Amino acid sequence: MSGRGGILGTLFGKKGEKNFKTLCVRPPYGTQSTLFEGRCVTCHDTPCVNACPSEIIFLDAAHTPCLDFAKGGCSFCEACAQACPKEVLNVETGTNVLPIYAKIDILACMAWHQSLCNSCLDGCDVHAIRFLGLFRPNIDVDACNGCGGCVKFCPCEAITMRAKEEA
Ligand code: SF4
Ligand code: SF4
Ligand code: SF4
Repeated sequence: MSGRGGILGTLFGKKGEKNFKTLCVRPPYGTQSTLFEGRCVTCHDTPCVNACPSEIIFLDAAHTPCLDFAKGGCSFCEACAQACPKEVLNVETGTNVLPIYAKIDILACMAWHQSLCNSCLDGCDVHAIRFLGLFRPNIDVDACNGCGGCVKFCPCEAITMRAKEEA
């Protein structure tokens, strides 16, 4: 695969290219973007969905897989790719980079409004969330690996995942 567009095309559905609020993030290890629409539609028994230990893969209306970070984060465990019978996901030839990052809505975040909260820290294994003292958290975009693990920990739904091209 070559070029940034190729990577983004592999990992995002069409909705996500236009509006981050409806971002469809593909599972990691995607090989070519066209394969999701070309092959997943004929895939039976949802093996990738069933394989994900975090239970974050769902099929959209087009019967192609996307990640639901409200349920949890991706651990890059490779299980979805191992289960894929159609080479849409492949550990050897696909990319394990999720070109997305977490963003905190400072209007919704309690810790930006003098309330003590750091629940999102519990979901971030790579320490990408930085507080100023006890307050005002922000995401270090360079450190964030796009796993989405922080999203479900936020009681205010203040964290959304966005395409890196929006950074
Ligand atoms: S790599 Fe693992 S956690 Fe991530 S989507 Fe695939 S099965 Fe789920
Ligand atoms: S800040 Fe980034 S790396 Fe940390 S949990 Fe959230 S999405 Fe994952
Ligand atoms: S969990 Fe949500 S409300 Fe709490 S500090 Fe993190 S982003 Fe702010």
